[in-house]
Amino acid sequence: MIVVMQPDATPTQVDHVVDLVREMGLKDHVIRGTDLTVVAVIGDDRKKDKGTLEQAPGVDRVVPILHPYKIAARETKKERTRVKISDACVIGGTAVPVIAGPCSVESEQQIMESARAVKAAGCHALRGGAFKPRTNPYAFQGLGEEGLKLLAAARAETGLAIVTEVLTPTEVDLVSSYADCLQIGARNCQNFKLLEAVGKQPKPVLYKRGMSTTIEEYLQAAEYILVQGNPGVILCERGIRTFEDHTRNTLSLSAVPELHLRSHLPVVVDPSHGTGYTRLVADMSRAAVAAGADGLAIEMHPDPEHAMTDGAQSLTPTALAELMISLKRVALAVDRKIV
Ligand code: PEP
Ligand code: MN
Repeated sequence: MIVVMQPDATPTQVDHVVDLVREMGLKDHVIRGTDLTVVAVIGDDRKKDKGTLEQAPGVDRVVPILHPYKIAARETKKERTRVKISDACVIGGTAVPVIAGPCSVESEQQIMESARAVKAAGCHALRGGAFKPRTNPYAFQGLGEEGLKLLAAARAETGLAIVTEVLTPTEVDLVSSYADCLQIGARNCQNFKLLEAVGKQPKPVLYKRGMSTTIEEYLQAAEYILVQGNPGVILCERGIRTFEDHTRNTLSLSAVPELHLRSHLPVVVDPSHGTGYTRLVADMSRAAVAAGADGLAIEMHPDPEHAMTDGAQSLTPTALAELMISLKRVALAVDRKIV
């Protein structure tokens, strides 16, 4: 970081800042300009509290230079990370895989029909929640382990890898024993104990951005998973809360190139939660691929009108199959492919 002194800071105040920097175990380099003096702090200052320096007499401001995240940062790793969910679903390469399926696993028939439709449309993995984070405690909470068993049966028949959400640290081992990829939902984006728990198991993590989490906070939170030794973190932009109410969330597509600039981790877009309305999903899916998304996570239900959760944003099997055709053309236009 750089400590910028006030224009009228005294030599004693500069010396005091230098003392504080040295007490932190860091090195200082004082640059005296014509108008003001700055103290460059040399060394990894990420674990230090910049507030101490900000409060010192004569200090105008403290400017961090290093990102507050380390393993997730682009400068730590030049090549992009590829996360393998299955042979057919590698996220972060030239191919742009599509993860599709219902919001929730509802019944054997519903998930089997969904899996067949996802496969027939040419998608690459099956999503479906067995444990659902619901705003209302009386709403359908998911089938729990029964839902995981149904997902495993759908995988056995179709060969599709399964992506499903985990809500609590105590259920991580259970969900991990069935799933090919664990989803962390938006509401748990900063549930640090849960992030640590998924960081300690071997399956990749589809890690959604919280609805009020800034990009800087999101990448710092991703670090909680990475630092536990799990490199398989797939970031997911699923829309944020804004004043706008024509959509359920505002899908921040500029987050895709921004995350790519700051991090080597792959970025998936969820246009279903990102808009909340079926009518907007296809256009935003194509826009996401054009913006550089490394994958898509799309809700599809065999009978959206009767879906137990998120029917209003779910594509039909036919709409998903049609979308895949146009998505392939968009992918080619931006030097990617959907196979
Ligand atoms: C979901 O994927 O169904 C879900 C609950 O998503 P989010 O956490 O993004 O709201
Ligand atoms: Mn949903």
